[in-house]
Amino acid sequence: MSGVPKVYGWCPGALRPMMSGDGLVVRIRAPLGRLTPDQARGIADLSETHGNGLLDLSARANLQMRGIREDRHEALLSGLRDLGLLDREEAAEARRNIMLTPFWAEGDDSAAIAGDLAKALTAATNLKLPGKFGFAVDCGPAPVLQNAAADIRIERKSSSLILRPDGATHGMPVTRDIAASEAINLARWFLETGGATGGRGRMKAHIAKGMQLPSGYRSVSEQSGQEAKPGPVEAGLLVALEFGQMSAKTLKALADQGPLRLTPWRMLLIEGASNIAPLPGLILDATDPRLRVSACTGAPGCLQALSATRDLARDLAPHVPDGAHLHVSGCAKGCAHPGPAPLTLTATACDTFALIRHGTAADEPLEPPLSARTLRAAPERLTEGS
Ligand code: SF4
Repeated sequence: MSGVPKVYGWCPGALRPMMSGDGLVVRIRAPLGRLTPDQARGIADLSETHGNGLLDLSARANLQMRGIREDRHEALLSGLRDLGLLDREEAAEARRNIMLTPFWAEGDDSAAIAGDLAKALTAATNLKLPGKFGFAVDCGPAPVLQNAAADIRIERKSSSLILRPDGATHGMPVTRDIAASEAINLARWFLETGGATGGRGRMKAHIAKGMQLPSGYRSVSEQSGQEAKPGPVEAGLLVALEFGQMSAKTLKALADQGPLRLTPWRMLLIEGASNIAPLPGLILDATDPRLRVSACTGAPGCLQALSATRDLARDLAPHVPDGAHLHVSGCAKGCAHPGPAPLTLTATACDTFALIRHGTAADEPLEPPLSARTLRAAPERLTEGS
């Protein structure tokens, strides 16, 4: 496949933004994945003042501001600091890579452990983790973050909490009080046993090498995760965003409804809400075909994109069968859906895509590439022979 994408090996932050085709991408890691209405309105204002007024929800439950001008970065940081959304230093921001179940409740295990872990990671100045290394705190009655990327997971199994390295069939029972410190110990074990080289490395790959876990880990059975859909939940209302993107205006309108919790599913949870009037880019119907597609920024917003992606994904969405998923990727990196999907279209040139079945954006296609025009004219090509 042509167009080998550049792999940065780190995630952007606010203090360490990443350059993209439309300016800097600045990622905000909100404490407990929650924005108060004032914080959300403040971010929307900053996005309009210093960026292009577009915001993305990342697959790690962070909020990304797009199109930030390089000469406005300092002023933006000052604004984020005033909102209480800035770490003291870049390394601490990078380490504090925590995803929290959006269904946490005040004072429960998930909220308490995520708070402890944030403090412990901020203080652990000698912990040199790879740029993409992250933690998932998912201690509700059933796990919901199993399909989201994380290297160390804290989950509930029956009545106990379990610390589990990603990809392992073994976990360690922990209590709420020691969960964060044991998670840091597991991160240290990963580093000491050679899990990272050159600032890169993931737990799943390390475990797959057959590494012997420290004592105290025992076999734990797989738990199936729950799939989230837009609609009412106990804590409020889940609303989806088309391709995980919204305008600053939409963010302000959402902030008027209540505090917002960020999720890794391109959805926001509006605390305490039970319904909301339609807004541009918002998906409120759980059967909306746009929920069956994902597409990355693509051209022209991404410097590595070989083609635009989202218009094609939107046009093909009604033709994706129920229960299937179509991932349209601007290059083989597959940012919008890193894992395998039933159907993937990976750009090989402008408006030209390789169709990959049951694979990732980087897998080899079995057929010659198709033009976007052909796909729009004959969308049945997507599912023919599958
Ligand atoms: S997958 Fe999309 S967003 Fe990611 S690098 Fe490639 S073109 Fe850019």
